[in-house]
Amino acid sequence: MNATQLDTLRALLARQFAKHVDSNYILTSEEERCPYECDGLSAYRYLPLIVVLPADSAQVQAILEICHEQSVPVVARGAGTGLSGGALPLAHGVLLSLARLNQIIEIDPDNSRARVQPGVRNLAISEAAKPYGLHYAPDPSSQIACSIGGNVAENAGGVHCLKYGLTVNNLLTLQVILADGELVTIGGGGLDSPGYDLLALMTGSEGMLGIIVEITVKLLPIPERAQVAMAAFNNVEQAGQAVADIIAAGILPSGLEMMDNLAIRAAEDFVQANYPVDAAAILLCEVDGGEAEITEEIAKVKQCLLDSGSTEVQTARDDAERARFWAGRKAAFPAVGRISPDYYCMDGTIPRRHLPRVLREITEMSAQFGLRAANVFHAGDGNLHPLILYNGNNPGELERAEQFGGKILELCVEVGGTITGEHGVGLEKINQMCVQFPPEELTLFHQVKACFDPDGLLNPNKAIPTLNRCAEFGAMHIHAGDERFPHLERF
Ligand SMILES: Cc1cc2nc3c(=O)[nH]c(=O)nc-3n(C[C@H](O)[C@H](O)[C@H](O)COP(=O)(O)OP(=O)(O)OC[C@H]3O[C@@H](n4cnc5c(N)ncnc54)[C@H](O)[C@@H]3O)c2cc1C
Repeated sequence: MNATQLDTLRALLARQFAKHVDSNYILTSEEERCPYECDGLSAYRYLPLIVVLPADSAQVQAILEICHEQSVPVVARGAGTGLSGGALPLAHGVLLSLARLNQIIEIDPDNSRARVQPGVRNLAISEAAKPYGLHYAPDPSSQIACSIGGNVAENAGGVHCLKYGLTVNNLLTLQVILADGELVTIGGGGLDSPGYDLLALMTGSEGMLGIIVEITVKLLPIPERAQVAMAAFNNVEQAGQAVADIIAAGILPSGLEMMDNLAIRAAEDFVQANYPVDAAAILLCEVDGGEAEITEEIAKVKQCLLDSGSTEVQTARDDAERARFWAGRKAAFPAVGRISPDYYCMDGTIPRRHLPRVLREITEMSAQFGLRAANVFHAGDGNLHPLILYNGNNPGELERAEQFGGKILELCVEVGGTITGEHGVGLEKINQMCVQFPPEELTLFHQVKACFDPDGLLNPNKAIPTLNRCAEFGAMHIHAGDERFPHLERF
């Protein structure tokens, strides 16, 4: 489509949307559309054709019906904190923001559940449930900002998911609007329901199967108490080994996180968490429950950490110190953002026993690519987040960061892991899907998408690569410059 055709389509959509949505919430000027050109993965930017912010699910339905009629693609957006480019818009598509659907409809303490709209912030659910002694367990580090709709679409994880499960394990029902505007309710009140598990299918579907307009989540009792141990190590591999040893000892911590020296120093500089800045790595291991249980478990954890070679183990003396230990970990991404103009965040998952090997190879790759990598991750889940530091203003550095990141993800697959643990595939990891899945399985994925969205209008060409793309990737690996994602313009 040329510029004139795009202008004509924008004007037509704006007129049609205005029949249903207050025109203040239909954004057409370049200035208004600009804030939506990227998500948390800011390396790539595309200006959407038009942005629309509906107020309720009836308006979402009307927008999808119009887009269906006009064959216009739609990209959903929650809070835009995604780190894989899932909410990256299309130059010829609608950016559908769910930000105004931000009501907590009901907290139901008797049944330990909450009904919420998709634009509600993750942390706001726990804040609303707190007076009832309840909380929503999955806690991404972005929880002060990210939306629950985005969490469902990405199957988000967090520090406490090792014990309490990912988003998918904490959902009961979803209301979803399909590409043609039909509203469906999936899931059920019980722990299981007959038929295919559409709730699990929709979770992690990255806005490609339907638009989530209401969510019923499970609430859990706030643990009576929690205690955290912080252990310092002289080398990263030993810390990796300690993770495997703790789990092998039969302990199920509520959180088990690791940071390497670069991440420790960045976080300490930012939030003064009292981290040992000379340590090669630290582990934060939290246990929760009743007083007696915690005392017994934390003693076992300390012993395990010392046996694994930790040079120093501290336990938080009070809740304020516990919060300080966690503040460093939770602020690690922005802290790394302070020491480098740009960073590229990877999200591979590996079987825990391979942590020492994979961490060693990441260090070797860092030297090979000439780029620093800070490691901050959900170690208990084997979910790595190497943050590759680069400067996008230096020619070729973004491409080197992409290649380095791609190699890390391919290593994760090689040791029996996956290319994403919680951030989704989006655009960023689409090539590595070709490494993870054989053509037969990718074909099945496309067939599933076609059942929900036969015209391919919802977040097209994200997450599931075409077989052609895989063939090209096999031959050429990653494209450079503006040719990086040519398929986005081709839709
Ligand atoms: C500092 C920082 C720390 C982070 N830490 C974590 C972490 O610990 N764990 C973790 O899992 N993630 C983490 N993330 C990544 C991100 O916060 C999560 O992926 C989050 O779930 C995205 O939510 P969002 O509302 O920002 O979604 P967006 O970025 O707006 O969208 C993400 C995807 O969901 C789709 N989508 C959004 N809303 C809907 C909807 N209502 N219906 C259908 N599709 C929809 C979009 O199309 C897109 O594909 C972190 C990000 C940052 C910046």
